[in-house]
Amino acid sequence: MDLADLVALRKDLHAHPELRFEELRTSDIVAEVLTSLGYRPSRGLAKTGVVASLQGKKPGPSIILRADMDALPIEERGDHAHISRHPGRMHACGHDGHTTMLLGAAAALALDPPECGTVHFVFQPGEEGGAGAKVMLEEGLLEQFPAGRVFGMHNWPGLPIGSMATRKGAIMAGGWRFLVEIKGQGSHAAQPHLGRDALTIGAAFVQEAQLLVSRRSNPLTTAVLSICTFHAGTTDNILPEAATLRGTIRSLDVQELEALKKGMTRLAAGLALAHEVAITVQFHQPYPVTVNTADETELALAAMKQVIGTQGTVVSDMTPSMASEDFGFMLEKRPGALVMLGNGASAPLHAPDYDFDDTIIPQGIAYWVALAHICLRINQDI
Ligand SMILES: [Zn+2]
Ligand SMILES: [Zn+2]
Repeated sequence: MDLADLVALRKDLHAHPELRFEELRTSDIVAEVLTSLGYRPSRGLAKTGVVASLQGKKPGPSIILRADMDALPIEERGDHAHISRHPGRMHACGHDGHTTMLLGAAAALALDPPECGTVHFVFQPGEEGGAGAKVMLEEGLLEQFPAGRVFGMHNWPGLPIGSMATRKGAIMAGGWRFLVEIKGQGSHAAQPHLGRDALTIGAAFVQEAQLLVSRRSNPLTTAVLSICTFHAGTTDNILPEAATLRGTIRSLDVQELEALKKGMTRLAAGLALAHEVAITVQFHQPYPVTVNTADETELALAAMKQVIGTQGTVVSDMTPSMASEDFGFMLEKRPGALVMLGNGASAPLHAPDYDFDDTIIPQGIAYWVALAHICLRINQDI
C-alpha cells in the first residue's frame, strides 16, 4: 500500500463513520485489507473487533499495537469532499486515521518483520463511551493473542505536526458518568408551598456540586465535575415533580474520584433531607486512569526519536489530559504506553469541524514500525 492508497482509505473511512459496536463496514474493510496483505485476520471480539498477527523471524515475546475504529454522534461541519455521508455521525476523534495508520504498519511490517516474536495488530471497536477495550479483554483478547506489552497511539490537536508526546505515569484521566434523579412533588406554579419543586432543588445540586471541586478537593490534585444535562418540567405554570441531571467526574487520582463520588452522594442525601424529596445518584461507565509504565514509555520514546526528524520534537513529559481513554483497561492488564501524535492546528477532538491530518500518516506508521523492531529485537530483555 502506498501513501495515496492509505489517504484514500482514510478519507473513505471518514466519509462512512460508524458508532460504537456498529463498525460493520469498517471492520469488513480492515479485514479485507489485512487479508490482501497476506494476514489471516480473526474477527468477532467485541462484535466488530479485528486482530491480525505477524510472526517475527524467530520465536520471542509478543506485543499488541492497538487502534480504535469508532466514530461519534456529532453532525459534521465543513465542505471538504470526504465529509460524513451519514447525518449525525462523524469521525471527530481521528479514529479513521488511527485505523489507517495501523493498517499501514501491518503492510510495512509484513515486508520487514521484526527479528523475533509476534506483533498482534488490534483494531478495537467502541472506544467512545463503550469501553470496547474492556469488552475485548473480557472476551479473551489476551488469552487468544497473548502479549507481554501493549501500545496505543492517539492523534493530538495542538501538538505541532511532526511532534510526538507521551509521559510516564498517568497520561489520561479516569472517570465515571453519573445520573442524578430528583423526585419531588408537582404543584401549581402559584402554590409552591403545596409541592416540592424538583427544578429548584436540581439547580441547588448543580451549584453545590461545584463546591466539591473548589472547596473539598485538594487544589494540588486534579478534579473535574461537569453536569452536562438538566431536564425538568413541561410548561410555564407547573412546578416539576422530577428532575434528572447527567454528567461526568474525572481525575488522574483514583482516590480523588472516590472522594467526588462520596461527596455527590452526601450532597444528594443532604438536599433530600433539607427539602423532603428523594434524590438518587448512580455512577456508571467507569474508565480507569490511563497509566504508562516506565520501561515501556522508554521504548516508545526510543521509537519516537528514531522517526522524528528536524521538523518535530519528542515531548517526554507532556501535560496529562483530563479526557479519558479506554486503552487504560489494557494498561491495567499489561505494561505499555499510550503516545500522542501531533495533529497540528486542527479543531479540537470531538469538535464538529475537526479532521485528521493525512500528512501525519507516514509518521504514525513509522512509529509503529520502529516500536515493533525495538520491542522485538533478539537479546531484548523482555
Ligand atoms: Zn474521542
Ligand atoms: Zn479518540
